Amino acid sequence: MRLDDGGALDFDYLLYAVGSTAARGMTGSEHAWSIADLDGAESLRTRLRQLPAQAPVVIVGGGLTGIESAAEIAYRYPSLDIALVSRSVAAGLPASSRARIHDKLANAGVALHTGLRVTAIRAGGVDTDGGRLPSDCTVWAGSLAVPDLALRSGLPVAADGRLRTDDALVCLHHRRIVGVGDAVAPPAHVGAHLRMSCQAALPMGAHGADTVLAMIRGQQPSSVSIGMTGQAISLGRRDGFIQAAHRDDTPAAFALSGRAAAVVKERVCRFTVTSMRFPRAYRWLPGATPSVPVPPPVAA
Ligand SMILES: Cc1cc2nc3c(=O)[nH]c(=O)nc-3n(C[C@H](O)[C@H](O)[C@H](O)COP(=O)(O)OP(=O)(O)OC[C@H]3O[C@@H](n4cnc5c(N)ncnc54)[C@H](O)[C@@H]3O)c2cc1C
Repeated sequence: MRLDDGGALDFDYLLYAVGSTAARGMTGSEHAWSIADLDGAESLRTRLRQLPAQAPVVIVGGGLTGIESAAEIAYRYPSLDIALVSRSVAAGLPASSRARIHDKLANAGVALHTGLRVTAIRAGGVDTDGGRLPSDCTVWAGSLAVPDLALRSGLPVAADGRLRTDDALVCLHHRRIVGVGDAVAPPAHVGAHLRMSCQAALPMGAHGADTVLAMIRGQQPSSVSIGMTGQAISLGRRDGFIQAAHRDDTPAAFALSGRAAAVVKERVCRFTVTSMRFPRAYRWLPGATPSVPVPPPVAA
């Protein structure tokens, strides 16, 4: 493996876990801030603190990142003029949950511009197919993309650049590389329901470690099996929304909102760190596919 300082590292087994970043294909995306990494989030905070009262802030994208960004900025900087522009907001949730999130955002002071497609980001605004919105700070929450490291390294990748693996998360054609997290595309029967999330990345990481240990011991690694539980959405520090899901990530009937949901969401965030303190105790919900030994690869 080559490093950008000119060095190189040998490996017996390599865990490919390069995650995802904000997609930067939009015209003028250099004028937008992103919270997909810590540097971006810190730079956004600096910008928000510089803005005068009533300055327009536009969040592009109505997925979970856009919803949370809009609500948190509105909570932390109530004097700013916050707008969220997107073709849809909370599109993956049931209609009743969607309506409640729309109401909560509106009550938090976020102006919703739905049904619009952003065509370009400018220094002082956002162009949409319905006209221009002024913006002194545009937050890009449009979509995620994975690094092109696997593609550049000649490894097998899916159309979106994610590393292709077998059921046990072992890279196809390269048995000493194991892929975990957002940057990886396991076969559909074990991975189609795993959206980019820490909810999927944490158990994938743990399973990937078990896969490496099994291969070191000369054993057949097991098929990955991960059940999803739902979506936990922060809506400012004192409000939230929890949408329960079936293990295949389709929405279930149960939803929770308000202060209790905010507390659950905060605990979910903290768990991503505290779970690392007790790695042997870490467990997750199995998926619909039972975990079974993966047959040895057939020689090409
Ligand atoms: C603001 C925000 C809020 C989120 N909230 C939630 C949530 O509430 N619930 C949820 O389930 N998910 C949430 N997510 C998604 C979740 O954080 C990711 O799905 C998860 O972190 C993916 O884990 P990962 O290990 O695959 O990758 P990452 O956590 O992205 O880690 C990848 C690491 O690899 C490094 N890297 C990349 N390329 C290279 C390279 N070439 N060389 C060396 N290092 C490299 C990166 O710098 C990074 O440190 C959120 C994401 C964001 C940005």
